[in-house]
Amino acid sequence: MTLERHRCSVDGCPNLAAYEVHRYVFDLEEGAVAQVVDESCPYICVEHALQNERGVTADRMPWSIVDYPLTNANRAPGIAVYVQLEPAYVA
Ligand SMILES: [Zn+2]
Repeated sequence: MTLERHRCSVDGCPNLAAYEVHRYVFDLEEGAVAQVVDESCPYICVEHALQNERGVTADRMPWSIVDYPLTNANRAPGIAVYVQLEPAYVA
C-alpha cells in the first residue's frame, strides 16, 4: 500500500499536512448530510488547524456559512472536519 504525503495547503507553509480538510453539512430542512473535501484548502498541518479553529468567531453550525481564517475560502455552508492522515511508513 502506497501512502502519499501531502504538504499543508496554506500559502507558504512548509509543513507536512496532518489532516485532510473536509466540510460537513447538515441540511436543517431535509436532514440530508454531506461531507466533502474542502477544495480551497484540502490539506492542513496541526499548527494551521489550531490557528484555523482558534480564529473562528461565529457559531459552528453545520447548516450555516462559518468563516474560517484559513479554510473554506469558497464560503460554503458547513463546518470544518479534520481527518487524520495516516503516517507514511518506509518499508
Ligand atoms: Zn500549515
